[in-house]
Amino acid sequence: MDYRSTRSRRETDLITAVMQGLAADGGLFVPVEIPHFDPESIRGDTLPEIAAELLLPFFSGSPLEPELRDICDDALDFAVPLTRLQARPDPLAVLELFHGPTAAFKDVGARFLAAVMERSLPLLDDDGRPVTILVATSGDTGGAVAAAFHGRSRLRVGVLFPKGQVSARQQHQLTCWGGNVRSFEVEGSFDDCQALAKAAFRDPVLSRRHRFSSANSINLGRLLPQVAYHAASSLWHWREAGMAAGYIVPTGNLGNGLACVWARAMGMPIREIVFAINSNLTIPEYLATGKWRPRPSVRTLASAMDVGDPSNMERLFDMLPDFGELRATVQAYPVDDDAIRAQIRQDDERFGRVWCPHTATGFRVYDQLAQAQRAGRPWIVCATAHPAKFESITESLTGHAVPVPDSLQALLALSAEHVTVRAEVDALAVELDRWNAEFE
Ligand SMILES: *Cc1c(COP(=O)(O)O)cnc(C)c1O
Repeated sequence: MDYRSTRSRRETDLITAVMQGLAADGGLFVPVEIPHFDPESIRGDTLPEIAAELLLPFFSGSPLEPELRDICDDALDFAVPLTRLQARPDPLAVLELFHGPTAAFKDVGARFLAAVMERSLPLLDDDGRPVTILVATSGDTGGAVAAAFHGRSRLRVGVLFPKGQVSARQQHQLTCWGGNVRSFEVEGSFDDCQALAKAAFRDPVLSRRHRFSSANSINLGRLLPQVAYHAASSLWHWREAGMAAGYIVPTGNLGNGLACVWARAMGMPIREIVFAINSNLTIPEYLATGKWRPRPSVRTLASAMDVGDPSNMERLFDMLPDFGELRATVQAYPVDDDAIRAQIRQDDERFGRVWCPHTATGFRVYDQLAQAQRAGRPWIVCATAHPAKFESITESLTGHAVPVPDSLQALLALSAEHVTVRAEVDALAVELDRWNAEFE
C-alpha cells in the first residue's frame, strides 16, 4: 500500500508516513485506496486477530508486513469489551475503550504507534541513534504517549506540560516514568508548550542532534488501530445479533469518528454513524449548513474534545468531496455541559454506570435520536475514558466515588519526578542535552 498527502498526489511508503507524521506539504497521509472486505471472510475473533487481518492491506509491500501480527499482539494487549446495556426493546451496548494503561482510548492509538515505530527504526538506513518524540500536552495525550513508549528501544519521549494547569492525577501520569521518558514542566500555558515543541522541531541543530519525531493524533499509526476496534466490535455484534449496529462516536478532532467511517468503507457491518460533539460546533454546523467555519475552541466538561478546527476533517473531505454524499454518510449532534451533567446523573440511575464527560455526550445523543431511529435497531456507543479519570466531575453529580482501575492505581503508586524549564527553546535545549549525557 502506498500513501499520499490529502494535498498532493506524491506517494510515499508506510514507514515514512508514520515516522514523518504530517506530509511535507502540510496535508495528512491517506492510503491511495481504502481496502474492502466481505465481513464473512474475516476469520479472527479477538481484537488483535481481527486487527492483523484487516490492517494487512495497509502493511502490504512494507518491510513491516511480517511484523504486523506481532505489532497487534504487542499494542492491543488489553481488553476492549463490548458490553450490553439493554437487550429489549431497543438493543444498546457500550464499547469500552478505556481499559489500557492510562484508562483512555488514546492508549490504543499511542501503543500501536509506538509498536510500529520501534520496529521501523531498525529498518531505516541510518546511524542508529535514538529518536526523541516531543509531545506537548494539556493533560491526557502526554500520559498515553509516555506509557506507550516507555521502555521501547531507540525511542525517547520528552513530555512538555504547562505548570500548574494539569490536575494532580494527570501530572502524576506524566511524570512517573523515568528511563526513556522525561517530563518537562514548562513555565507557561499549553499554547507555550506547543510553541516550544514547534520551535525545537524547527531548530536545525537541535532537531538533528535529537532526531525529533512526533506522536500527534493525526499520525496514521494512531488512526489504523482505531479502525480495527470499530471493525472488530461491529463484527462481534453482527455475528451474535445477525444484523449491523449503528455507532455513536464521541469525537472532537475526528480521530475516533473518521476511524469509524473508514471501518464502514472497508465493508464492516456498521449501519449509521453519528458523531457526538460537545459545544464546539464546527462539525454539526457544517453538516447543517454546508459552510466550513473553523474557529477557536471553547472549554467544556468533555475537554479532550475541545477542538474548533478538527484536523481529521481534511481526511473526510478528501474521501467524500461531495457535500451531499458526506451528509448522507455521517450525522453529528452537539451536547452542552448541562446535558453532559444530566446524562451522567441519569445513567448512573438507569444503568448503574458512571460515564466520563466524553462518553456522556454519546449517550445523550442516543437518547435524543428519533424514536424511529432507535426502535428495534441496535446501537453501540463508544466509551472513551474511565470515569475515575474525571472524578472531580462525576462524584458531585452521582454522590459516590468510582473505584480507580488497577492499571491507574499502579501508576499512581510510582514515584514521580520532573524538570522545570522556562518556555524558551534555549532552556529546553540545555535540559535535553543534559538528559542525553545521562545515557552516555
Ligand atoms: C482524545 C479524546 C477524545 C476525542 O478523540 P478524537 O481524536 O477527537 O476523536 C474523546 N474522549 C477522550 C477521553 C479523549 O481523550
